[in-house]
Amino acid sequence: MAAKLISGKEIAKTVYEHLKSRIKIIKKICGKTPGLAVILVGNNPASQVYVRMKTKMCEKLGILSEHIELAGSASHQEVIDNVKKLNNNNDIDGILVQLPLPSQCGENIILNTISPDKDVDGFHPENMGNLLIGKPKFIPCTPLGIWVMLKQSGYSPEGKHVVIVGRSNIVGKPMFSILCQKTKYANATVTLCHSRTKNLPEITKTADILIAAIGRPHFITKEMVKPGTVVVDVGINRVDDSSSPRGYKLVGDVDFDEVSKAAEAITPVPGGVGPMTIAMLMNNTILSCETKHGITAPSILD
Ligand code: NDP
Repeated sequence: MAAKLISGKEIAKTVYEHLKSRIKIIKKICGKTPGLAVILVGNNPASQVYVRMKTKMCEKLGILSEHIELAGSASHQEVIDNVKKLNNNNDIDGILVQLPLPSQCGENIILNTISPDKDVDGFHPENMGNLLIGKPKFIPCTPLGIWVMLKQSGYSPEGKHVVIVGRSNIVGKPMFSILCQKTKYANATVTLCHSRTKNLPEITKTADILIAAIGRPHFITKEMVKPGTVVVDVGINRVDDSSSPRGYKLVGDVDFDEVSKAAEAITPVPGGVGPMTIAMLMNNTILSCETKHGITAPSILD
């Protein structure tokens, strides 16, 4: 039987309705508009696409968006100076430095320069630490989007065995930190796998919920998934496709056609985790503005 499709695109639409009402409340209470600044260094085509999508969504929602483009040759100090300026700009509630950065820019130092109060990506060590102890200010957008998606589609991780493949700081580790908490829609037993994990298929086959964040096209095959699993595909991989005008297509880390025959539910690529990531960036920017003005609004998970 074909798996149920968990459409991030559709769930994001309901999230945007919730966000619009929160923006209205902010305007009504303090006359302010949430503001997001994005710094893009260089001309990586994928990064340019992501930044355009984020800016467009800000415009659509009525979030102030500032877009700073620096040359690929920009120095580390130039990026730091721009971040510091934004830290002190009262119109800006969220700062995002688009990754990857050119090699002359020290990624960690730059990310750590962002004020933790404006770190809407949730990558600052202070925010990562708060997430780990169950007191998050900002949760990284991709894992937050996956969490909301699971909740909204009726697949709460509570009491389930969740297997995450991939231990990056932006997806795997924060996903682990969210789902192991003693909170509603979490309370999962979580296994975090990576490239040194032995007998990976034996572990993935024990998952009730399998989250793939690897960066390898079609890595998760049907032999790695037990029937009835809920499968979340985070991967975005370009593979050659001569039938596409662009010469490539985007595929996930999961062999969708085969795995969807066994899974209970599955997220597509594109249209799955990607749209939720952008929605959560908007959520975190609005949350930052609410916090700054002492406004308590219903959470995205209420
Ligand atoms: P990273 O490259 O930072 O991490 C990949 C992880 O996969 C690592 O932990 C690595 O293990 C693990 N891995 C690699 N090969 C294997 C293997 N053979 N067996 C088991 N584990 C393996 O990637 P990201 O987390 O940044 O991204 C993962 C994917 O998700 C990418 O395709 C990326 O484009 C996509 N992505 C999508 C987003 C969205 O919004 N939809 C947002 C962010 C990312 P080890 O640590 O041992 O090296």
